[in-house]
Amino acid sequence: MTIIENVLEREQAVREVVREITQRFDRKYFLDRALTGSGTRELWNEMAKAELFTVGVPEELGGQGGGLTECVALVEEMSLAGLPPMIYPLNLYARSAILNHGSPEQIQHYVVDAMDGSVALCFAVTEPDAGTNTFAIRSTAKKVDGGYLLNGQKVFISAADEADAMLVVARTAPFDPAHKTAGLSLFLVPMSAPGIELKQLDIRWYVPEKQFEIFLDDVEVKDEWMLGEEGKGFSYLVDSLNTERLLIAGMMLGFGQYAIDRAVEYAKVRAPFGTPIGAYQAVQHPLATAQAELKAARALTFEAARQFDAGSADGSGEGMAKLLAAKACLAAVEACIQVHGGHAFVLDNDVITLWPLARLIQIAPLNNESILNQIAERSLGLPRSF
Ligand SMILES: Cc1cc2nc3c(=O)[nH]c(=O)nc-3n(C[C@H](O)[C@H](O)[C@H](O)COP(=O)(O)OP(=O)(O)OC[C@H]3O[C@@H](n4cnc5c(N)ncnc54)[C@H](O)[C@@H]3O)c2cc1C
Repeated sequence: MTIIENVLEREQAVREVVREITQRFDRKYFLDRALTGSGTRELWNEMAKAELFTVGVPEELGGQGGGLTECVALVEEMSLAGLPPMIYPLNLYARSAILNHGSPEQIQHYVVDAMDGSVALCFAVTEPDAGTNTFAIRSTAKKVDGGYLLNGQKVFISAADEADAMLVVARTAPFDPAHKTAGLSLFLVPMSAPGIELKQLDIRWYVPEKQFEIFLDDVEVKDEWMLGEEGKGFSYLVDSLNTERLLIAGMMLGFGQYAIDRAVEYAKVRAPFGTPIGAYQAVQHPLATAQAELKAARALTFEAARQFDAGSADGSGEGMAKLLAAKACLAAVEACIQVHGGHAFVLDNDVITLWPLARLIQIAPLNNESILNQIAERSLGLPRSF
């Protein structure tokens, strides 16, 4: 059997397990949890029970093996059922940095023990002033005896209230324009550490995970909480960010398809002039265009994921996949809203509720413009524009 067939077999097995779960935890459950803010712990527990958190963890650590490809398939399959699982990718971004650079103790606790769903992480990079520019972050970790003192502020941190620890980026040396990527360090800090304060943001995006401002005030960080070596945090982040782009692409592929399926179902029965609106070309074409764009983005995403797993990725495919999947998903959601007419805006119909997530992904985790900057610079050899 070729490597590809193996991957396809594992991917298929993951999809079947996910389908069994999404038959019990459906879109109605997801939206209800998003509206009531009551979290999706039961879903998380079911995923753990079905051993989905062992996917992508090496067999020698007790995992099922496989790579990012199977994890992207998992996210896509959940999103196909209308359940884009933000908390799962969040944990995977952190997990990839820990697997690659963590100490044996960190790997044991945050990867091996976490396979049963008992340990959750959030990912704290963004700061109010720095925004997209990670080099401009101001949170600092100052060396003291036995550890560091962490001070600063993070913003938009998803699921910080559900996390046991955060993977946080802070400066351990001032910004040096001659060595831009140096001086940033990563720490795995338990959320129970004194000096961490959370303030919830009021974000309306119909997703169960909440977002927080995090205030870090003289948080005593132990030496052993640092991930890898001091000052090398940015290089460790790169792997996580590429993982993030492909998982988000997978989420957009599934979510876009979910929107198209919903639109087609409605277009077949809605008939204000006697003929179902799905018979009109003006209704068909946006849906057909979005379908074609999703299919193209899907081919690119899985190709990039397989290259990532094979160690042959050059860093360009991940960004392109996120860009195209995000745009195709937004086109699908826009078409779904248009097909539903005024009924799209009735909360109970759960159509306008698809839009904020699809729109946000044009901006986060990395905005489309920044991805285009990278493509222009790295793939086309044009000058760096920012
Ligand atoms: C719901 C939600 C969840 C989030 N979860 C997390 C999380 O868990 N952890 C975390 O760390 N962060 C998280 N974020 C933060 C998210 O990643 C940031 O919002 C994003 O990185 C952009 O930063 P900013 O919002 O400050 O935008 P800014 O940096 O202010 O950018 C604003 C706009 O300017 C343009 N722009 C910026 N830079 C460039 C450039 N170089 N070239 C061209 N155009 C540019 C883009 O159009 C961009 O949308 C989340 C955000 C939201 C809203």
